[in-house]
Amino acid sequence: MTLTRDEWHARAKAIAPETHAFYAGQARKAATGESFVSINPATGVAIAELPACGAEDVERAVAAAKEAFDSGVWSGQPPAIRKASLLAWADLVERDWQHLALLESLDTGKPIRDTLAIDVGSSLKSMRWFAEAIDKVYDEIAPVPASALAMLRRRPLGVVGAIVPWNFPLNMAIIKIMPALAAGNSVILKPSELTSLSALHLAKLAHEAGLPGGVFSVLTGVGPETGRALALHMDVACLAFTGSTAVGKLLLGYAAQSNLKRVNLECGGKSANIVFADVGDPAKAAMAAANGIFQNMGQICNAGSRLLVEASIYDEFLESVAAQAAGRVPGDPLDPQTRYGTLISTAHAERVRGFIRSGRGEGARLVAGGEGEAGTAVVPPTIFADVQNTMEIAREEIFGPVLSVIRFETDDEAIHIANDSPYGLASAIWTASLPRALRLEPRLQTGVVWVNTLRVGDITVPFGGMKQSGLGRDKSIHCFDEVTAVKSVWVDLEQ
Ligand code: NAD
Repeated sequence: MTLTRDEWHARAKAIAPETHAFYAGQARKAATGESFVSINPATGVAIAELPACGAEDVERAVAAAKEAFDSGVWSGQPPAIRKASLLAWADLVERDWQHLALLESLDTGKPIRDTLAIDVGSSLKSMRWFAEAIDKVYDEIAPVPASALAMLRRRPLGVVGAIVPWNFPLNMAIIKIMPALAAGNSVILKPSELTSLSALHLAKLAHEAGLPGGVFSVLTGVGPETGRALALHMDVACLAFTGSTAVGKLLLGYAAQSNLKRVNLECGGKSANIVFADVGDPAKAAMAAANGIFQNMGQICNAGSRLLVEASIYDEFLESVAAQAAGRVPGDPLDPQTRYGTLISTAHAERVRGFIRSGRGEGARLVAGGEGEAGTAVVPPTIFADVQNTMEIAREEIFGPVLSVIRFETDDEAIHIANDSPYGLASAIWTASLPRALRLEPRLQTGVVWVNTLRVGDITVPFGGMKQSGLGRDKSIHCFDEVTAVKSVWVDLEQ
């Protein structure tokens, strides 16, 4: 059923989000009674008052999660039973698709058409994929002498703390929690304090689907309080994190200060999108470059935020990308026609504006967009030409709709610029020559390389970074490695 703008607004007016954290099988206020508000960035209006969970809530939630794990009520179930529960949960997400999409749009300022299709649509696909996968993963037998049997058994780790960002709140949460739960762990999710609403609804649906108490919890609150307490807890066995590199480094420190818990990090990026003069389909490449940086208002870890263009086609290609940018006009997120919404907050928009001022100050040429109206969360699609890779706008992850276009002359120079970054999340090469692409791909120090495409992904393909973009991999069967330990079991066969 498709809704009109007015119908979405009517629903938004009537919406009643969950306003309690969820742990030990129940919806709860913070133990201290403290709270914070979640704001709709498109209107500046508070949508909900939420519990600011603190150390005591973390303590109780971890105790319940550990008790559930140790009891075997979930961890000890056959994979097919866990799969059935997770699929029942996914069915409820499907039932509440529009409600979740609306919560996500109100909480983030994203266009409703995107939250319907991408945020909820792909979350649902991922939920079902992980649920379905878990009873198709086999353990191994090692090729030891016949006098013994050595079994390599994958075992869940215990309590997994999932700490996620605000750019795809539901999607990022699902990618972290589903493999952990499917593998038999208990999970405590700490959503971003800017976007907790879809996570709280997910907890409600988990309860409705019959997941045992303590197996899945959601603690709302700010990073340095709730997230830090979770990350330092001695009974949390693993942290599954997506967020900034700065916070990822803190988590490694917390793991070192506490119990050497496993840490899986998906962090920031400053991905190079390299367009050679022999690009086969320049129009497709220009459209992909614009989608790459302007979708989700640039708040995407693998946005191709550095566009490297060979000198001989530089001006022409820049013009095509700028034409694409011009077609993206900021609009009402609840209008189904809108393709470009607001940033996550006015504070984040001000940060992005600071980078735009820095680009101007360092001598880059502004060819599209600009700062937008101060005091709002709207920043239009912005393009800087004549960027040097030493400029701040080429080095820092802006995490907003700002494209830095850099000129290069040779293959070696392109690879050097692409790799000259602390980040190593993703990169792309556009060329009609497959041998050239395959020659250059091994030289790119990134976890993902795209050839003649950008930002494609699939739940079946691992995703993650090199260098300061993180440790470990999300998605695919390989990510079960992040939330399980291989246990070696020896049996003597000579008796
Ligand atoms: P962030 O690092 O500020 O916050 C992420 C999460 O960490 C939030 O839940 C936050 O509350 C929590 N947190 C903050 N301080 C903490 C602390 N001291 N201890 C424990 N938890 C703490 O990131 P953000 O601003 O929410 O999201 C943007 C970042 O996420 C960007 O850097 C982006 O590249 C990254 N990201 C990466 C990927 C990926 O797959 N590599 C995907 C999406 C986003």
